[in-house]
Amino acid sequence: MADVLHSPDALVIGAGPAGLMAAEELARAGLRVVVAEAKATPARKFLMAGKSGLNITRNEPLPRFLAAYRQPRLDPMLRAFGPDQVVDWCRGLGQEVFVGSSGRVFPEVMKASPLLRAWAARLEGLGVELRTRWRWVGFRGEGLVFDTPAGERCGSAPRVVLALGGASWPRLGSDGAWLPWLRDRGVPVVGFRPANMGFAVDWSPFMARHFGAAVKNVALLADGQRQRGEFVISSRGIEGGGVYLVSRAVREGAALLLDLLPDLSAEHVAARLARMKPGDSLANRLRRLGLSPAAVALVMEWGREMDPALAVKALPVRHQGPRPLQEAISSAGGVAWAGVTAGLELKALPGIWVAGEMLDWEAPTGGYLLTGCLATGRWAGRAAARLVG
Ligand SMILES: Cc1cc2nc3c(=O)[nH]c(=O)nc-3n(C[C@H](O)[C@H](O)[C@H](O)COP(=O)(O)OP(=O)(O)OC[C@H]3O[C@@H](n4cnc5c(N)ncnc54)[C@H](O)[C@@H]3O)c2cc1C
Repeated sequence: MADVLHSPDALVIGAGPAGLMAAEELARAGLRVVVAEAKATPARKFLMAGKSGLNITRNEPLPRFLAAYRQPRLDPMLRAFGPDQVVDWCRGLGQEVFVGSSGRVFPEVMKASPLLRAWAARLEGLGVELRTRWRWVGFRGEGLVFDTPAGERCGSAPRVVLALGGASWPRLGSDGAWLPWLRDRGVPVVGFRPANMGFAVDWSPFMARHFGAAVKNVALLADGQRQRGEFVISSRGIEGGGVYLVSRAVREGAALLLDLLPDLSAEHVAARLARMKPGDSLANRLRRLGLSPAAVALVMEWGREMDPALAVKALPVRHQGPRPLQEAISSAGGVAWAGVTAGLELKALPGIWVAGEMLDWEAPTGGYLLTGCLATGRWAGRAAARLVG
């Protein structure tokens, strides 16, 4: 087992997209780079993201793209490495891309593995050394301590980039264990919260037959937002793209309403219901309106006592709060912006830069997350190469 103590010029901890991008920039600057990764293989979350189609970035006007992050400190990083640059980067690694629905950009193969293989080969060619099963476990004096297959190792480097990810899906490597270690060294941190997550629902027994059903072509309303999308009813609650779009607002306390017939006005729905036979059951009338069986069940679950037209157009979702952090697609929280310089160096720990989801930003799914991780990784890597904060 090689030893990290052979003083590399730069040490990157965490081999996700942010860390690999930082390593690439450092190596391109002519530095000897070691990447330490806790897991047996790199970029597990990136590979998982590719399982359902790797949405690598988004094709939309830059101002709209930047606004999705609601974090102006990210703007210079995303302007330097935004959607156009991500597309060029994919093509440079031999992966042609296409623009799917609502501007989402995917590699043609949809998967992450060919991109990762090409990237790993490029990094190897640049001399980047990857040490897997090297888990950083905290500080000792000025050094960094690692658990490795050969036992404990202590190391340091003139430049360290931490790219440890957030705290969702911990089995893929990013478990947020580092948060107290940085906090104890004077780095301001914000506690993790789930982002892009589902919401728990205590269903009545009648809903069991709809578990797994997709509720399509609805609008989700929260805090003045109206998002078209779809979601899935599961035994645990509701989850899926449409819910993720409003999940931040709902997590912060906004009520969530569903418009189950978003292409029809409330007046139109009310008039059609009024024309139906008064003796007919509510479920039958809803079916005749064109609601799917799952959508009818939701009205019966949450809106039985309401005026039916109102229940169809603004059905209140009665949930028990966000599903746990471990299940969320991403996390909010991490290293606070007050704790980093413009170059993403930790003010309390000069010589250590941070990148990726471990910084306190969040964005909707749909390519924003990976672009943000690549952009911050590149930014931190470049600043670290020049030793600028
Ligand atoms: C199911 C799923 C689907 C997704 N789909 C998409 C998508 O289509 N588009 C999109 O934009 N985003 C998607 N994302 C989000 C995206 O994958 C993440 O935002 C991104 O991977 C974060 O990159 P990162 O480099 O900051 O952290 P990570 O990818 O989490 O990498 C961090 C790395 O650090 C390592 N590490 C952690 N702690 C230590 C330690 N103490 N010592 C050493 N190594 C350590 C981890 O093992 C890991 O390899 C998805 C996420 C999930 C869970």
